Amino acid sequence: MSAFPSIFVSHGSPMLALQDSPARRFLQGLGSRLARPKAIAVVSAHWETSGGPAVSLATLPATIHDFGGFPSALYEIQYRAPGAPELAEQAAALFEAAGIAVGRSAERGLDHGAWVPLSLMYPHADVPVMQISLVHGAGPAVHEKLGQALAQLRHEGVLVIGSGAMTHNLYEFRGQAVDAVAPPWVSEFKDWMQARLEGNDSAALLDYRRLAPAAAKNHPTEEHLLPLFVAMGAAGPGARPQLLHSSVEHGVVAMDAYAFN
Ligand code: ZN
Repeated sequence: MSAFPSIFVSHGSPMLALQDSPARRFLQGLGSRLARPKAIAVVSAHWETSGGPAVSLATLPATIHDFGGFPSALYEIQYRAPGAPELAEQAAALFEAAGIAVGRSAERGLDHGAWVPLSLMYPHADVPVMQISLVHGAGPAVHEKLGQALAQLRHEGVLVIGSGAMTHNLYEFRGQAVDAVAPPWVSEFKDWMQARLEGNDSAALLDYRRLAPAAAKNHPTEEHLLPLFVAMGAAGPGARPQLLHSSVEHGVVAMDAYAFN
């Protein structure tokens, strides 16, 4: 079996589950573009733990509706993919072998950063899914190391997905329409990231907060970009990042996706 790429996807607003857009159509086609994985390890921006990452041992992870003020149809969606507790234990062992302290959660379900893109990529919910947390307060380098510890899984039929957002300033959201035009500070940031990714400039990427245009404006907090670094780390140093999709929703949420081969 050839190794799976690791993937970064932007999950945007929870309405992505219901509302047509170019990013939604891209995700609907992404599952069938990839070989069928044995299981999925997903790192979402919406689960952070302190002191180290955690893995979920849930055998049937609950669908967590971790958002407020959306139409009731969104709360009725249940994504019933089986869990992958053996993969969770394997990931935990890989973290420990890399000297990374890891927590184990017996019950943690899938938050919308995980289930919204997965429900579009694998609508039959027939691929086991295991979620891994971000490390609260840690930056890109720590998250790249988390990915590096998991790299071996790509050779064992596991698809490693980081789910966040290429840009994510919800203070600037202001109820803009899904197809609102992006301001230059959003476009310039995602273009800078694209150039550094395609140039495999990991040193610049890890230092994006100092080097990239309007970095702190696009990410007032870092959690939506950190899954990118997990995907980058999981691919290994010789990886070739490939832009799979680029669009902006609501003016300020860039929906870019990358594969790391
Ligand atoms: Zn999010």
